[in-house]
Amino acid sequence: ARGGNVARLFDETVRNHGGELAVEGPGRELTHAELAHETASFAGGLRERGFDPGDRLLCYLPNSPQYLVAALGAFRAGVVVSPVNPQYKRRELGYQLEDTDASVVVTHPDLRPVVTETLAESDRDPTVVSVGDPDQHHPDDVAFDAVRGDPVTVDRDPEDVALLPYTSGTTGQPKGVRLTHRNFAAQLVSYLASRDDEVADTDVRSLCYLPLYHITGFTHVAMQPLVRGGALYLRNPSDWSAETAMETIESEGITHFVGVTAMYVDMVGSGSFGEHDLSSLVRVSEGGAKMSVAVQERFEAVADVSLTEGYGMTETTGATHSQRGSAFGPRHGSIGQPLRHTDCKVVDASGEEVQPGEEGELLVRGPQVMAGYHGMPEATADAFTETGYLRTGDVARRDADNYYEIVDRKKHVIVTAGYNVYPSEVEELLREHEAVADAAVVGRDDDRRNEVPVAYVVAAPDTEPTGPLAETVRQFVLDRVAEYKHPREVHFVDALPRTASGKVQKYELERRADEAGG
Ligand code: ATP
Ligand code: MG
Repeated sequence: ARGGNVARLFDETVRNHGGELAVEGPGRELTHAELAHETASFAGGLRERGFDPGDRLLCYLPNSPQYLVAALGAFRAGVVVSPVNPQYKRRELGYQLEDTDASVVVTHPDLRPVVTETLAESDRDPTVVSVGDPDQHHPDDVAFDAVRGDPVTVDRDPEDVALLPYTSGTTGQPKGVRLTHRNFAAQLVSYLASRDDEVADTDVRSLCYLPLYHITGFTHVAMQPLVRGGALYLRNPSDWSAETAMETIESEGITHFVGVTAMYVDMVGSGSFGEHDLSSLVRVSEGGAKMSVAVQERFEAVADVSLTEGYGMTETTGATHSQRGSAFGPRHGSIGQPLRHTDCKVVDASGEEVQPGEEGELLVRGPQVMAGYHGMPEATADAFTETGYLRTGDVARRDADNYYEIVDRKKHVIVTAGYNVYPSEVEELLREHEAVADAAVVGRDDDRRNEVPVAYVVAAPDTEPTGPLAETVRQFVLDRVAEYKHPREVHFVDALPRTASGKVQKYELERRADEAGG
């Protein structure tokens, strides 16, 4: 972007689409011209209150138009945005406040009690900016609408950090990820260059139920359609209902939708799926975890649109791969080819590239790859190879057409007596059993074999999760895969522990397995 500030990319959007709707959501609507003006004057307000480029702002807010004003406004001021999951409580908010050393927290009256508790136990003293009704504000708060000044967009070096999101914490403590103005510009420019759907920019309507604090929602559901001049319909994940979502798709003529697998499961399983006219959809995708091919097929058959899977990480500002735009079209069970600006390899433990069809760790290099982890020089050094590839920590396979498939996370691979067990394979098999609704497989420490697989299973509705049934399920797997892959124990649980973004927390299950087992 000119002047290095990614927010400048929106100047062109305003010239072409100024009078059109940019965002509609809880409490507000803004056109593109209004969004640009509000963000630039929020930036001016931050500058006038003494906040400087490089300072950190915590965005502790639910999805709302103000979220976008705060985030894009901070970009314009050069202030680094660190999004906080609005489900976080004192401990988690406190960690992120300390770790980022933020000088501003933007929040909502509903979340203010958590901010108050957090500040009571901290020696930090950030300015608290609150959206919503000033009558409900804490006496120390600055009203969101009072952070206004002469519109400004400061020059930035493209390598300056714009966003400091935290990883999902699926494998341990969340890590702060330094994403630069260049990282975002790369995702936006490549998206603009590869508009491959038949929708005119003016007609793009994106429905967002994913949280804006997570990279998929922010980059792909919000920023990309917006920079194109489209309209964003913001909803909150806590308000998710398949029924309402399908009604909105129909009534607003939604063209773009990104969901997690659970959302597609809900839509396909809803009694009225098939009665709604979903024909306005042209771009529907899934990202963040492996997509179930069965659900994908059912959705596509009824909605008559291809549901494409993408792959990416917080560390890559969103996608590195997508089925959409891949040379030979979408292929189920695969994450597609790397995006044009992305360079990938699959390597073995010694760093040598493996043959197509063979498993290895996926390495990625490209303009969307983070500058590093925040305040973690060792983790940053470990994350990159000597030639500058990011180690994704995911095991992948590449086929002869350069399509990739994610096998599992490297951390989750169970090494048992020298054999590799990929939990995702065993989990898929477990889910095929009629008594199983969901399953997770982890390794338990074992003196002889190093580790052995253990399964945690959620019983299907109307089944009695008893010991004999657990034994039947165990035998079911044993009959279908090599002996070393089968779970030595099957435990029924009410629910699997999950992160806020819906991923199973395997480290939690590993801990349970080690405590119980032996
Ligand atoms: P942490 O790094 O804190 O353990 P996390 O890796 O879950 O958490 P994210 O950056 O939100 O945090 O998720 C990126 C990861 O999600 C990828 O490394 C990969 O394991 C998984 N993932 C994303 N898309 C897909 C996909 N299409 N198929 C399989 N796995 C995917
Ligand atoms: Mg990760």
